[in-house]
Amino acid sequence: MEQKRSRLQQGQVQVYTGNGKGKTTASFGLALRAAGCNMHVVIIQFMKVSGRYAEDEGIRRLGECVEHYTFGNPGWVKKGEGTEADYAQAKAGMEKAREALQNPDVDLVILDEINNALYFELVTEEEVLELMQNKLPNIELVLTGRNAPESIIEAADLVTEMREIKHYYTKGVPVRRGIEF
Ligand code: ATP
Ligand code: MG
Repeated sequence: MEQKRSRLQQGQVQVYTGNGKGKTTASFGLALRAAGCNMHVVIIQFMKVSGRYAEDEGIRRLGECVEHYTFGNPGWVKKGEGTEADYAQAKAGMEKAREALQNPDVDLVILDEINNALYFELVTEEEVLELMQNKLPNIELVLTGRNAPESIIEAADLVTEMREIKHYYTKGVPVRRGIEF
């Protein structure tokens, strides 16, 4: 059945942080729900390389409601010592985020792992706070990633902490395609 498109009166800012599993997948769950009523969703992933994660194809299957962009390079980033390519990718991700958050046609913007980009000092708190403050009022904004800084938590409307109580990695269960990536 064709669904009528939903629009938001007032978008909120949500943060999913903490060391437990479920931050990225919770945000994608919201994208799934929003796509179900034809909302225009933009997912921007920081510090991730396209083609490595099963969600790339999963998001594509949600159809034209959902735009998906990844900004990252292969390999590990050293905190405070990213390569030029790391900073360039982060900058391009922020540019895309600004564009999406100023587009009146957009309903939901997900900035996946932006807290990690902050932690590794590829982007600054000031830049992210500015994004949050200047978004169009109708857009719901979700920021994910462990180690959300206090200033971001303060500025958000909703903060959920995924707290690890138990995780099978401690039993030696390896990361599994379709579940962890
Ligand atoms: P998910 O993408 O499953 O929603 P997440 O976004 O909350 O998880 P991240 O911190 O982005 O979690 O980690 C990505 C994945 O790596 C998660 O699926 C998580 O279960 C897994 N993971 C986290 N810590 C470890 C670890 N120490 N060893 C192995 N896997 C881990
Ligand atoms: Mg994640």
